[in-house]
Amino acid sequence: MDLDIQDIIIAIDGYSSTGKSSFAKLIAKELGFLYLDSGALYRGVTLLVLERGWNHKGEIDTDALFPALAELDLHFEHNAEGTKTYMGSRCIEGRIRSMKVSSLVSVVAAIPEVRRYVDQRLHELAKNRRVVMDGRDIGTTVFPDAELKIFMTADKKVRAQRRMDELIAKGENVEFQEILDNLEQRDYIDSHRTASPLRQAPDAIVLDNTNLTFEQQMDWLKGILQARFSR
Ligand code: C5P
Repeated sequence: MDLDIQDIIIAIDGYSSTGKSSFAKLIAKELGFLYLDSGALYRGVTLLVLERGWNHKGEIDTDALFPALAELDLHFEHNAEGTKTYMGSRCIEGRIRSMKVSSLVSVVAAIPEVRRYVDQRLHELAKNRRVVMDGRDIGTTVFPDAELKIFMTADKKVRAQRRMDELIAKGENVEFQEILDNLEQRDYIDSHRTASPLRQAPDAIVLDNTNLTFEQQMDWLKGILQARFSR
């Protein structure tokens, strides 16, 4: 299918490990969109908290964190290998995907000042509006005017298995149950927090990819894009 798509914002939200970022990266590559990973920014803030010792058994030292946010330069660099997350000049892509960061990120992401920091960064980075973004509140809070909103979901065990395969490929030694627990815990915290909880936007289209390959998901999306946004 030869597609010429308008400059639009595609917002992809959904539960943890539903393949949002892999799907978003594929869309960016195939359709020439900029990919922005909002979760990577929450993970970057979490890494800062861990490295500075600002986590005291789940209590975050916000007196130290808030002034640091004003100085924090989290951004993405895009090259042939894909998108990598940077803190200043340091590539933090590997570190932010560890279980240590995954275990704390939902706690950090529930802090309203942290959400304001990430929202502001996303708006700065999305200036040209030919963007695909993934997260938990992109279609509801960050870009409620996004032209296309997708809400992704999949069976919990399938999600945990995919995450486990990913971590094992990176050399992390992890248990299936630990991953499943982390997934459930993040879904719970993300859906129940006060500050912009994970919700399906009323105008979002649901994509359940439990039994779908990436190719099938792309075909599904291209059908929608062609019908609604071709030029
Ligand atoms: O997408 P990813 O799993 O990397 O996101 C890590 C965490 O960041 C999520 O579990 C969630 O707590 C938080 N997050 C969020 N809002 C977003 C994106 C991520 O709260 N838009």
